[in-house]
Amino acid sequence: MELKTLFENSVFPVGGENTAYAQYFDGTSYLNMLTLDQVAIGNVTFEPGCRNHWHIHHAEKNGGQILLVTAGKGWYQEWGKPARALKAGDIVNIPPNVKHWHGAAKDSAFQHLAIEVPADKGSTEWCEAVDEDDYNNL
Ligand code: MN
Repeated sequence: MELKTLFENSVFPVGGENTAYAQYFDGTSYLNMLTLDQVAIGNVTFEPGCRNHWHIHHAEKNGGQILLVTAGKGWYQEWGKPARALKAGDIVNIPPNVKHWHGAAKDSAFQHLAIEVPADKGSTEWCEAVDEDDYNNL
């Protein structure tokens, strides 16, 4: 999917360029926090080829993240496991304390809602970028 098509058809507003977390992404993304009440939910849009770095949603209890894929094609991968291809309608339940990344396919823009599961002592640790060759070989 082209970025322009995704922007034109997005159900939730795409928001502005995601400069706050740009240091933890390769490529350009857009972030719009839809709500911060009760449960934080962000609409995250990735340009083709854009992905975030390996990261961990830490929690002592509960926590983790749920991705609801709303458009395009992308990937989700947990450390030591094969990458999972994602398309609109897919749901990813990311357990707390599991190292992972998510992002667009090389040839498609991608969008997901990211739901922060409320956690006891929650925090996010950002790690290394996804290996360029590994990503290109997906
Ligand atoms: Mn995540």
